Amino acid sequence: MQLTPIRHVAIIGSGIAGLSLAIGLQTMGIKVSLLDKSRGPGGRLSSKRVPGGSVDIGAQYFTIRNPRFQQFLDQYAGTESYRKWTPVLFYEQEPGLPQPFQVAERYVGVPRMTGVSRALSQHVEPTYQLRVDRVEQMQQQWQITDDQQNMVGCYDAVVITAPPEQTRELTRTLPVVQQGLTGFAMEPTWTVALLFSQPLSLAFDGMSLKDSVLGWVARDASKPERDSGEWWVLHATSTWSAAHQDDSPEQVIAAMIQAFAERFNHGQTAVEVISHRWLYARPARGCPQSGFLSFHQDRLAVCGDWLNGGRVEGAWESANQLLEHWRKEQLV
Ligand SMILES: Cc1cc2nc3c(=O)[nH]c(=O)nc-3n(C[C@H](O)[C@H](O)[C@H](O)COP(=O)(O)OP(=O)(O)OC[C@H]3O[C@@H](n4cnc5c(N)ncnc54)[C@H](O)[C@@H]3O)c2cc1C
Repeated sequence: MQLTPIRHVAIIGSGIAGLSLAIGLQTMGIKVSLLDKSRGPGGRLSSKRVPGGSVDIGAQYFTIRNPRFQQFLDQYAGTESYRKWTPVLFYEQEPGLPQPFQVAERYVGVPRMTGVSRALSQHVEPTYQLRVDRVEQMQQQWQITDDQQNMVGCYDAVVITAPPEQTRELTRTLPVVQQGLTGFAMEPTWTVALLFSQPLSLAFDGMSLKDSVLGWVARDASKPERDSGEWWVLHATSTWSAAHQDDSPEQVIAAMIQAFAERFNHGQTAVEVISHRWLYARPARGCPQSGFLSFHQDRLAVCGDWLNGGRVEGAWESANQLLEHWRKEQLV
C-alpha cells in the first residue's frame, strides 16, 4: 500500500521529549498537534508553587553532555531559561559514608525547573488539559479520542511520549504495540518538600543517599534564582516508594520527615510541607534502552526518557533519535 507522506503529527505529552520533537518537526514544516493532560508543559520537569516562589518536585537538575542539546536549549529555550547549579553535593556508596559528588556539570531551569519547558512551549502552542483515552488506526490515518469520548482528530502519524504503563493503556486496541511494550516498567518516587524558618546547618546542598527510606535530599534554595526560603526536597528510594505506594500523604510525610531528622540530626521543625507521589518516576532497572519504538510502518512511534536512560537529556535524545530515523527513512 502506498503511504501518504507525514504532514500532520499528533504528539501525546508535552514533557521534554514531546516539546523537543514538536519543535524539531515544526522546523521541518510538519504540522504538529501537541496534547497534554496537565495544566502546563514540562511533565516530570515539575515545580510546585509555594508562597513566594516554587519548589522543584520532579527532576532536580539536568546534564548537558551532548553539545547539540546545548544548541537546542540555547536556540529554543534561550540562555536565560537555565543556569549552571554548583551545589556542594555528596553521594553515598555505603550507608553513612558520603563522598564528594563532583562529576558532571549540572543545570537547572530558572526561576524554576519549568522555566525551560515554559520557554520551549512558546514555539509550539500545546493543547493542555486534554487527556487522551486511546489511539486507533483508521485506514491510513490515526485517530485520537479523549477521555470524554470526543474525537480529537485524525493524523498521518502519532507519537506517544507518556511512560510505558500509560502508553500501554493508550494503545490497548493495537496488539503489535502491546507486544512491543513488553518488559518496560517505571518505578514510583514519593517526594516531600519541607520549609524551615532558619537555614539548616548542614554542610551540603544535596546528597544522593544509600538509605532505607531516602534516596535524595537537596536544598532547593541553593539553586540559582530561588528566593522562596529554606525549602528542602526529599525523594524516597524506589523500593521504599513502591512499598508505601498506597499510604496516605500524611503517613509518607511523617515517615520521610523522621528519616531526614534522624539521618542528619538537623534539630528543626518544618513550618510547611508538601508532598507528591510520582507513580511513574524512573524506568525500572533492566528496561531495554532502544532510544525509541516504532510500529505500523513508522506511523505510530513511542519516545521518552524511559527508552534512553531515564533522564532529562535522555528524553531529548530519544526524541532526536526518532526525528533522525524519520529523516533517514525520508518520512519527513
Ligand atoms: C522525582 C524525580 C526526580 C528526577 N530527577 C532527575 C534528575 O535529577 N535529573 C534528570 O535528568 N532527570 C530526573 N528525573 C527524570 C526526568 O524528570 C525525566 O527523565 C524527564 O523529565 C522525562 O521527560 P519525558 O518527556 O520523557 O516524559 P514526561 O516528562 O513524563 O512527559 C510525559 C507527558 O505525557 C503526558 N501524558 C501522559 N499521559 C497522557 C494522556 N493520556 N493524555 C495526554 N497527556 C498525557 C504527561 O502529562 C506528561 O506531561 C526525575 C524524575 C522524577 C519523577
